[in-house]
Amino acid sequence: MLAEERVRADTPGCMSGSVFLDSAGSSLPPRVVLDTAIDHLRREAEIGGYRAANERLGDLAAVKTAIGALINATPASIALSDSATRSWADFFYSIPLAAGDRILVSEADYASNAIAALQRARATGATVEKIPSDSTGQIDLDALAKLVDERVKLVSVLHAPTNGGLVNPAAEATRIAHSVGALVLLDACQSTGQLPIDVAELDVDALSATGRKWLRGPRGTGFLYLRPELAQSLEPGRLDLHSASWVGADEYRLAPDASRFEFWECDVAGRLGLGAAVQYLLDLGPENVYAAISARAEHLREALPEIPGVTVRDIGIRHSGIVSFTVDGLEGIAVRDRLAAQDITVTVSHAGSTLLDMTGRGLSSVVRASPHCFVSFDELDRFVAAVAQL
Ligand SMILES: *Cc1c(COP(=O)(O)O)cnc(C)c1O
Repeated sequence: MLAEERVRADTPGCMSGSVFLDSAGSSLPPRVVLDTAIDHLRREAEIGGYRAANERLGDLAAVKTAIGALINATPASIALSDSATRSWADFFYSIPLAAGDRILVSEADYASNAIAALQRARATGATVEKIPSDSTGQIDLDALAKLVDERVKLVSVLHAPTNGGLVNPAAEATRIAHSVGALVLLDACQSTGQLPIDVAELDVDALSATGRKWLRGPRGTGFLYLRPELAQSLEPGRLDLHSASWVGADEYRLAPDASRFEFWECDVAGRLGLGAAVQYLLDLGPENVYAAISARAEHLREALPEIPGVTVRDIGIRHSGIVSFTVDGLEGIAVRDRLAAQDITVTVSHAGSTLLDMTGRGLSSVVRASPHCFVSFDELDRFVAAVAQL
């Protein structure tokens, strides 16, 4: 069990009296994240960025150790980056593709992933195809099994989509992709920090995640996990003097691990903040945090449909902490803005972010309420009452 009072006391943003329901967008960090990042910026201002970083080499190495502990991976299989999209693209653009190759994307796939897939398909002559969803809304595993053949080079599995509570059966989809030798890239942007993640159990080849959402880290942080063999064999499309060494007039050597997917320059304060965020989550216990998030999301899924004109839009069997809904006769933006006027923060997810899924369901936008473990049930009820007043 999570000590709600402790978690709230650790979160400066909880003190303001507002209701915060946007951890799927950009969450409220715990104080330790804020202090770690700000203290480092101050130190850089005192002695310069290089000496300040050198003072924190141990803590910087601990960032990957903590991420590894969170997802059951070695530090050498993690590449830090500035966003989930950067990490996803770094992996995706390094996969060799040729004419006739097939790329499969989830129906709930994120626009940035789909756009990248379409761009590479144009450049290489590969094709991009949608994995159908079953009647519950999750990836249709039977259809996927029929769809795959040895021309499929990559399957993009969206773990928890940005526009609602679905959690896709990633391990099962991965097993099917591997049966034809395809690689699986898991977009775990909305699941990391929320659901317990075990890359060995999921067996994915790569996973991308961001810092600012459920992990409650600083903006401009993210990471890529790569299966260790791939971290030693894939060549990134772009290199620098950190991802590779210049060893002769005509020669360079790639870094021996996932750091070949990193550039040298980074926001050190942000990285230290990310490390603090992951360590904070590990201290709370990822299982406890997931239980707390699930209980809050389920509370909303029960309360919102009681309001006339409100429809919860979550699909699938297993649900994430993202609760999506629409209000009859009101645009998502209007709902968001009217709630913001009462100091309640939700966001709107537009069709363009998850085009295949939203157009398939005839939705132009949904309102997204994503409560983290620091949100109290009183606050949830204040939100529900405010929606009822709309
Ligand atoms: C937010 C989001 C992303 C992008 O994350 P960035 O850190 O902004 O690059 C990718 N996939 C999903 C499902 C998301 O919700």
